Amino acid sequence: MILAAAVTIFIFILFVASFRNGQTATAKSQGLGSTKHFNEPGAAIAPKLGNETAKAELGRAAWKVLHTTFARFPDKPTQDESEALRSYIHLFQRLYPCGDCASHFGELLKKFPPQVSSRSAAAAWGCHVHNQVNKRLKKDMFDCANIGDFYDCGCAKDEKEEKDSKIKDKGKGKRNH
Ligand SMILES: Cc1cc2nc3c(=O)[nH]c(=O)nc-3n(C[C@H](O)[C@H](O)[C@H](O)COP(=O)(O)OP(=O)(O)OC[C@H]3O[C@@H](n4cnc5c(N)ncnc54)[C@H](O)[C@@H]3O)c2cc1C
Repeated sequence: MILAAAVTIFIFILFVASFRNGQTATAKSQGLGSTKHFNEPGAAIAPKLGNETAKAELGRAAWKVLHTTFARFPDKPTQDESEALRSYIHLFQRLYPCGDCASHFGELLKKFPPQVSSRSAAAAWGCHVHNQVNKRLKKDMFDCANIGDFYDCGCAKDEKEEKDSKIKDKGKGKRNH
């Protein structure tokens, strides 16, 4: 009787384990569940962009988004927030709509991996890689000492209000318990 129960439990465990392995294999074959793509530079997905005007307009808009993202990144991010930024930069590189720019940018990311430990680290890194692109395109270098003022979105008031309201909510939570 005990032996029969043990054999049944053993078969059940085998069944569950093989089912889970099957799911993982399917997910892997579909490219799901793998975070590899998000943690390193990769092959450009978009084709080459021949139109120079479009390339420059896209570049200006993209740099604005990137630098503003860094300027609004937390001073003290959680590990999850830092990983989100790292993944974002790597996916941004692979999917950048100018394929030739994306390939060059991928090489830059290999040389200068994204710095995601704080707002100032991310902003300084962004300024540095932008300057590397400027250098290759024979443009003027930007003075990275001014990066904080240059991309100040004027959001300090919003951030203070949000912080205050979080502190207030915490206070309310304490009183209710
Ligand atoms: C990831 C990426 C890769 C690119 N790769 C290529 C490429 O391979 N070939 C190509 O032809 N174009 C590329 N571009 C576009 C290129 O970088 C420029 O955006 C485009 O040539 C327009 O240049 P711009 O002179 O108007 O100023 P941009 O370089 O677009 O800069 C916009 C503004 O940002 C400020 N700025 C300049 N340098 C910095 C810095 N270091 N840090 C912070 N702010 C700064 C200045 O005020 C400047 O006016 C790329 C763009 C991006 C986002």
